[in-house]
Amino acid sequence: MHFDAIIIGSGPAGSACALTAAKAGLSVALIDKSAFPREKLCGGGVTGRAMGYLGQIFGPLPQDDLFLPSDSVRLTYQGRMLSQHENAPVIHMTMRREFDAELHRQAIAAGAQPFAPVRLASIDPGAARITLADGRSLQGGVLIGADGANSAVARSLFGRAFDPAKIGFGLEVELPRTLNPDNTTEIDLGAAEWGYGWVFPKAGSITLGVGGIHARNPEMKTHFRAYLAHHAPDLEDMENIHCKGAFLPFGAYRKIPGKGRVLLAGDAAGLVDPITGEGIAWALKSGHLAGLATIEALAGQGPTAALPAYQRHLAYIHREMEAARRIRALIYARPFQTLFPRALERHPSMGRAYLRLLAGELDYADLGARVLFRLARRLGGSLLPRRAR
Ligand SMILES: Cc1cc2nc3c(=O)[nH]c(=O)nc-3n(C[C@H](O)[C@H](O)[C@H](O)COP(=O)(O)OP(=O)(O)OC[C@H]3O[C@@H](n4cnc5c(N)ncnc54)[C@H](O)[C@@H]3O)c2cc1C
Repeated sequence: MHFDAIIIGSGPAGSACALTAAKAGLSVALIDKSAFPREKLCGGGVTGRAMGYLGQIFGPLPQDDLFLPSDSVRLTYQGRMLSQHENAPVIHMTMRREFDAELHRQAIAAGAQPFAPVRLASIDPGAARITLADGRSLQGGVLIGADGANSAVARSLFGRAFDPAKIGFGLEVELPRTLNPDNTTEIDLGAAEWGYGWVFPKAGSITLGVGGIHARNPEMKTHFRAYLAHHAPDLEDMENIHCKGAFLPFGAYRKIPGKGRVLLAGDAAGLVDPITGEGIAWALKSGHLAGLATIEALAGQGPTAALPAYQRHLAYIHREMEAARRIRALIYARPFQTLFPRALERHPSMGRAYLRLLAGELDYADLGARVLFRLARRLGGSLLPRRAR
């Protein structure tokens, strides 16, 4: 079987890619190891940025069924309140089971041919050919790996899916809605090292989680239990609460997102914001851009032109990832660790800027200089050049 585009993985990145390519008339195979709907461990916080990309790529989605909007945010540090923000930029809370199923459904409706549930058995990246676990063999013009943080496609190209020193890890549990009935989103900047804790309200539950750089949090389960105990002190049988864990490529993006006729998108390309952990927006956008690059290449110079085109399209996202990675190194560095939360506490406008960044109303280029300047001033100006103090 031959397809113009073979897409492995039908999360937000794969479905966005499939829909984009299929709408342009390309023949598309969309492969996933799971049948939809399927579970995906995630806070399910869909930011304003992600909502914008969803609208651009998929058009209007059934809002009431999929999302619970939250515009009230509490920023805390190890349980201590830093600031409370009402009328904050809205985060649309969703359950990934239903959200991803809807995107998958739309990609199929646009003309992509589904292969699910079926696992990948082998990949020949040089020939853009794959074999499925049921024995079928598929030949592609371009192959797109959108198969998440532990990407088999990335492994086939680079030997491993991620760098263990840089990868992030998160633990989550769904709890009764009664523990946080007022729709407030909470972010605790002291719940983990180089990461944070979160309580996200959902229509029928709350999602509580803790995440951060894996190598800096060997005791992530202890952090998780402490955060859980703070929010649910009366929860019986705490030891037997069943939390789940997953990797997220938290600021370890691939500068060259593919090889030859193979492109990587979303988590497989390491496109998760290194400070906020947001990945849905970047998965949608990079999937869409991988689709556009494939369309351009197949209409022009041929499949090998897809990667350079994709890299050009990704330049803005890579700039944002790089800027965020640098700011992260500053705000989490030892001397600054407590300074950032203190600055958020004393200057509500900084908290607001952080939330606008989270929502996609600001980008790091806007925020970076401001944050660095304020932090430097709080250290007595020692970081600023003499003439700027
Ligand atoms: C604990 C946690 C909380 C998070 N919270 C948020 C949040 O609140 N907001 C946010 O924006 N981001 C959040 N993220 C990040 C977000 O979940 C990811 O960035 C996003 O899901 C990436 O989308 P994707 O399409 O690249 O990959 P995925 O959503 O992981 O989809 C990959 C797909 O590939 C399929 N697949 C994998 N391997 C194979 C294979 N071998 N063969 C066939 N199919 C395969 C899988 O079944 C899956 O459907 C969180 C992540 C974690 C771990």
